[in-house]
Amino acid sequence: MIKQLGGVSLLALGLSTSVFADHHKEEDMTVYRVFVGDHEAAQVTAFDLNAPEKRWTFATKGQVKLYPIAGQSVIAAVQSFDDQVNFIRSGISFKDHGGHSDIDVTEPSAIQFTLGGARPFHLLEHDGYVSINMDQGGYSVMLNSHELSEGEFQRYDIALNHAHHGVVVPWGKQWLSSVAADKAEEGSLPPRVGIQAVDAKGVATGKMATCTGLHGESFSGEYLALGCKEGVLTVKEGASGPEYKMLPYPDRFPEGEMTGHLIGTKSFQSFFGSYSKKGVVTIDPTAEPAMQLVELPFGRIDFTVDPVKIKYGYVLTEDGRLHRVNLLNAKIEASAQVTEPYSLEGHWNDPRPRLAMAGDEIIITDPNASLIRRISTESLSEIGTIDVEGMPYNITVIGGSGLSH
Ligand code: ZN
Ligand code: ZN
Repeated sequence: MIKQLGGVSLLALGLSTSVFADHHKEEDMTVYRVFVGDHEAAQVTAFDLNAPEKRWTFATKGQVKLYPIAGQSVIAAVQSFDDQVNFIRSGISFKDHGGHSDIDVTEPSAIQFTLGGARPFHLLEHDGYVSINMDQGGYSVMLNSHELSEGEFQRYDIALNHAHHGVVVPWGKQWLSSVAADKAEEGSLPPRVGIQAVDAKGVATGKMATCTGLHGESFSGEYLALGCKEGVLTVKEGASGPEYKMLPYPDRFPEGEMTGHLIGTKSFQSFFGSYSKKGVVTIDPTAEPAMQLVELPFGRIDFTVDPVKIKYGYVLTEDGRLHRVNLLNAKIEASAQVTEPYSLEGHWNDPRPRLAMAGDEIIITDPNASLIRRISTESLSEIGTIDVEGMPYNITVIGGSGLSH
């Protein structure tokens, strides 16, 4: 089970578990816990959706992007502009008991250990590993998900061919690494040209599959999908290693654009992706056509998929309207005004709303209004708002329901 890996160092996080639920009582419990980063202040604020008065605050070094990892038991706070990743014990964990899930809820707490590295950026989790790319460091850090949830882990570094804004995907017994061109323009990192299987030392073990400008990676079912200039590259495990298949953009798609961000759905095989500034695509790698375009009335601010009503995705556009997209037929089925307009003009990292899901609600940060909006997936109407000081920006929500006993 242990892979052959290079650059090993052992780190202890000292996680501990405690339970505050009354263990004599059996109860049905639903908890959604919100973690939100500020646009300016170096901190993460956490609260439960049903008890938002109680807040937890975690200091970071800079602005964060937040990812739930290790079965939601840990939140990674990636600080790309400050060369650091912090980890927070989420305080919520689930155990499968066959017919039901057990939920264990405690207070969230900071994990003392932080991960340093030159420009940490894309984070993904697959096959039991969390992979964090260090764009300027020229390697990806691998952390074992299970070890991380248990409180200690070994760190493995996989070298990239050149330092670049890339990704290394844990892939069974090997790794799939993005490949950068040998030449870069002065002052910038080299462009991505493809992906290939590598061993623990980063040495190629297979032929490179072309994927110009590779950006955006996600899993659904047996597929990994990657955005490229040529189309969406899918990868699945075949009899003799990874099998690559390029799904070209259909002729009627606006030319010269690409998919740069993908979200794989969990409960059926489908991807929801970006396409140009004013579009989203739905992708079923096994369908014909594999890709359908949804043209939006205004520029796309953010998008997500519904983990409960699984055939739906949601897109927020510049005009402040939220659209419900049917992923099966790529049709906008409903739209509603949810925030003031936010323009895409300006810097990509200017404060703009971000979306997350909590059961039957879409949770939206509204940085200019210093609050979080709770929107019903059913009606797209606002259920309530929660004040969050400053400029609430990147967000992740974890939790769900289970038995506490
Ligand atoms: Zn149980
Ligand atoms: Zn990126």
